Amino acid sequence: LSGKLNGVFDRLRRRGALTEADVAEASREVRIALLEADVALPVVKDIVAKVRERAVGQEVLRSVSPAQQVIKIVNDCLVEALGGGEGVEHVPGISLNAASPVPILMVGLQGSGKTTTSGKIALRLRMRDRKKVLLASLDVHRPAAQLQLETLAKQAGVASLPIIQGQGPLEIAQRAMQVARGELYDVVILDTAGRLSIDEALMEEVAQVKAATRPHESLLVVDAMTGQDAVQTARAFNERVGITGIVMTRIDGDARGGAALSMRAVTGAPIKLLGAGEKLEALEDFHPDRIAGRILGMGDIVSLVERAAETIDKAEAEKLAAKMQKGQFDLEDYAAQLKQINKMGSLSGILNMLPGMGKLKGQIDESKLDGSILKRQAAIIGSMTMKERRNPAILKASRKKRIAAGSGTSVQEVNKLLKQFDDMSAMMKRMSKLGQKGMMRGGLG
Ligand code: GDP
Ligand code: MG
Repeated sequence: LSGKLNGVFDRLRRRGALTEADVAEASREVRIALLEADVALPVVKDIVAKVRERAVGQEVLRSVSPAQQVIKIVNDCLVEALGGGEGVEHVPGISLNAASPVPILMVGLQGSGKTTTSGKIALRLRMRDRKKVLLASLDVHRPAAQLQLETLAKQAGVASLPIIQGQGPLEIAQRAMQVARGELYDVVILDTAGRLSIDEALMEEVAQVKAATRPHESLLVVDAMTGQDAVQTARAFNERVGITGIVMTRIDGDARGGAALSMRAVTGAPIKLLGAGEKLEALEDFHPDRIAGRILGMGDIVSLVERAAETIDKAEAEKLAAKMQKGQFDLEDYAAQLKQINKMGSLSGILNMLPGMGKLKGQIDESKLDGSILKRQAAIIGSMTMKERRNPAILKASRKKRIAAGSGTSVQEVNKLLKQFDDMSAMMKRMSKLGQKGMMRGGLG
């Protein structure tokens, strides 16, 4: 999948600037990628339209490379569609902002993970929020369902409503609220029964319980692995019952999570939590950016572009590359690079952005470049005269002593810096030789 996208983006990269036709071509690939990630077709169309609108125009002009910029735009559109983005507060988890006992209704198809998620939420509310939680199973259709919840309640260290045979879902729900009021519970989690598919009887039952208990949260639990079907489920429950949030389970499987995007688009309800395993602890907060990365499968590139956008501009990178090729790299350039490396976090990051040089990053010993050393090295270069920076060969013992004193370092450290600069220069000469052999062909324009 990523490979396929990369193919198109490589082609874009070689062309340099994005035209409308380029973006249209990339859009086709983005559409396929999203469909493969289980995003519903109408949602895919929306996203692709948004990407196209943003990509053709000024935003791509200031990019590191047009290709990487497009990936970033796709990613940003996904994050926004998932309820995140710049200036948007992180999606809150479950809201308990109501009078106690706060009823929480769990709805969804059979096997989606409602009962398990009820137990997970109970554990979290007890441990993290110090709440007194009552679990109640309204599932009278499956013989062992009520016992299953009772067992989970014990594991979570919370109470469960005593089972009385013969009561219907509505009666159980009302009894749960009564008990909770009498025994001063903070939260009541009502775990409903599901069906294998959406049917009227199920919807009617859930709607009745909802009307009777007026839950503060009605959480739809959906299996991420159901992919495209998740949209129909979400739409049906939202129209018939009304939901305040979505929990997507089985995110520990290999589903790409595109269902989250579709469900959010169709219902407008936020994804609140993720189920990431069978254990009660396997409950995660929802982070739009993580799911976007998972859908797109290109998280590394996106974060690289994010950092790059803040720290380095293309013109500077090109200037450096030209100097490298000509073998004119001096200590002044080295100091400028130290600054960039400091901001970027690594030299590999910079090399990645110089087209064709990514492959050479393995040749650099990153361990020599940690933050505090970088600062001392910058100080050393700062204590040199311009003449010394342009021509390090003139640095003999007396000059080194002066520089060491001026920068508050030692002559050994000055020597170390010069050695490292020599290493780097040598590496760059190798690099430009390789470049002439074709590795950098077409890459820098
Ligand atoms: P319900 O019918 O909606 O109540 O579904 P259950 O809670 O009984 O879950 C059905 C099955 O899915 C059980 O075997 C659970 O252990 C499993 N399950 C629930 N949530 C998750 C999850 O997030 N990841 C995985 N791998 N399994 C889960
Ligand atoms: Mg159940």
